[in-house]
Amino acid sequence: MQSQVRVVIVGGGIVGTSILYWLAKLGWTDTLLLERRNLTSGSTWHAAGNTTYFGPYAQMTRLFAGSIRTYLQAERDSGESIGFHQTGSLRVATTKREREQFHEFEAGYQSLGIPYHVVDNDVISALHPCINTDGLFGAAHTPTDGHVDPSSTTHALAKAARNLGASVEVQCPVHQLSKDGDQWLVQTENGTIRAQHVVMAASFWTRELLQPLGLNIPLYATQHHEVITESVPQIAALDHEVPAYRDSYVSCSMRQEQDGFLVGVYETEPVFWSLDGIPKDFKEELFAPETDRLMPHLEKLMVRVPAFAEAGIKVINNGPMCWTPDGLPMLGPINTQHPGLWLASGFNVGIGTGGGSAEFLAHWMVNGSPLFDLPIVHANRFGNNVTTEQAVESINACYRMGYKLPESIRVG
Ligand SMILES: Cc1cc2nc3c(=O)[nH]c(=O)nc-3n(C[C@H](O)[C@H](O)[C@H](O)COP(=O)(O)OP(=O)(O)OC[C@H]3O[C@@H](n4cnc5c(N)ncnc54)[C@H](O)[C@@H]3O)c2cc1C
Repeated sequence: MQSQVRVVIVGGGIVGTSILYWLAKLGWTDTLLLERRNLTSGSTWHAAGNTTYFGPYAQMTRLFAGSIRTYLQAERDSGESIGFHQTGSLRVATTKREREQFHEFEAGYQSLGIPYHVVDNDVISALHPCINTDGLFGAAHTPTDGHVDPSSTTHALAKAARNLGASVEVQCPVHQLSKDGDQWLVQTENGTIRAQHVVMAASFWTRELLQPLGLNIPLYATQHHEVITESVPQIAALDHEVPAYRDSYVSCSMRQEQDGFLVGVYETEPVFWSLDGIPKDFKEELFAPETDRLMPHLEKLMVRVPAFAEAGIKVINNGPMCWTPDGLPMLGPINTQHPGLWLASGFNVGIGTGGGSAEFLAHWMVNGSPLFDLPIVHANRFGNNVTTEQAVESINACYRMGYKLPESIRVG
């Protein structure tokens, strides 16, 4: 392992490997990614892989679009499949107001060159015959997004970065960060590394790794479920893969997984995990499913998608998901007192936004400014004094929003 590099990246999930890849694409290959266990050992291995283009903030949409573009580019560069399924997505309108809001997004998508249409119920039925459209007001349709395989994508990014000269060290936990003049000292299980820049892509672990520096980064983990069904005859009989479906009333997302469904649920009352610090012996295990909390949502889903009611449940995964108080990631320098320390943590849709966020951050590091400004994700926006109670209250409100849109849409 090198003892001196230009950049150390801490964390080998989709975000850390995307940053390693983008830095290498921009010419910075004197870089070393350090991973505590194996690539994807955090939240990435159990993610559903959804990479939609739909989001309430136009500028965030650039991060979503940049992600699919990044992953496909890494696939070409590495020769490794990322398992992209271009199914498109339907965000159904459950009220007239929601449909109006969908129309308000049209100009934003047009300016970004992303196909986006507000469609009627007959189009929903043609694309996704399993959806009961009674009471719906159409949907927002983004035909060119879909889902990737998060694990294959992470490995493709790492391989493509390595091919360009970047390095990866797994089974190498970082224990501590300190300063020696203008250099960072990164103390690891396998020795100390000097670096000009350190990028923290360690998700909720970033909080405790930066605490000894006097930094109070409001990153916490909720428990998040996904439900995977057995084969569904109605799906198996189709000659096309159905689009992903998202519904603010049911507070669920659903996509096709083989011939069945994969469902993600945003419950009304999220449950947090290890608010006082991540257990030292945590590896990459899942939590026991808590189906009682899911049932009110799954019952609504059975009405909206009757075929789901008939499907056998194959597996329920319940894994940790990182949150910031406003639900958006933290990207960029933390503050002027810690030059060379960059944050890329706090992703709850890290597959959807990781690749584009890495492009955004890598340009910032290499060129001194990001590709475009996006203050809503700046790492310093919370200051240093958010208490755990305040963060939990705020995250509760975000999680509960699920797929509801904010009333006033901020564009940019
Ligand atoms: C059930 C479920 C389904 C999901 N589905 C989706 C989805 O469909 N689409 C989507 O966009 N998102 C989804 N997510 C969220 C997604 O998993 C995360 O947003 C994403 O994986 C975060 O990536 P990351 O690289 O920031 O973090 P992680 O994948 O957690 O990576 C952080 C890495 O840092 C490493 N690390 C920690 N401490 C240290 C240390 N001291 N030294 C070295 N390394 C360290 C960890 O081992 C880990 O590998 C889902 C989450 C859950 C729980």
